[in-house]
Amino acid sequence: MSKVKVIPCSGIGKVYGLMARETVLQVTDVLSKDTAETVCLAHIVTGDDSAKEKIKGCSCITVDGCPALCSAKSVENAGGIIRAKYRAVDEMRNHRGKNAGTATALTEDGWQIVDEFAGKISAKVTELLEEESRNA
Ligand code: SF4
Repeated sequence: MSKVKVIPCSGIGKVYGLMARETVLQVTDVLSKDTAETVCLAHIVTGDDSAKEKIKGCSCITVDGCPALCSAKSVENAGGIIRAKYRAVDEMRNHRGKNAGTATALTEDGWQIVDEFAGKISAKVTELLEEESRNA
């Protein structure tokens, strides 16, 4: 069974983009390293065949910073099957009043929010794979 692709946006000027990227790395490098992997969004957007090949027809989870949904739109255009979409900005709504940091550095609160967010996405990876094996 192929790994679930978990793909963050490339947000660079806002804390939400940093949160999206750090969250995905936590999922693909730590919590779900045997069952999930990431693909560089810029590589997908530029139309690289090998990057597109990796996601075409595969279960994907997108993690965007904000409502612009750059990852979700690009993954969908490239033929990935989006099974779940997340946005860091929504995650912040569960932590009103907390300062997550800046575009370049997370605060201690920011890292805690990222840990919680990553746990949620990792649980979704497990759920999707269980669903796929039931339907196999
Ligand atoms: S989804 Fe928002 S934060 Fe992410 S790359 Fe697009 S505009 Fe930037």
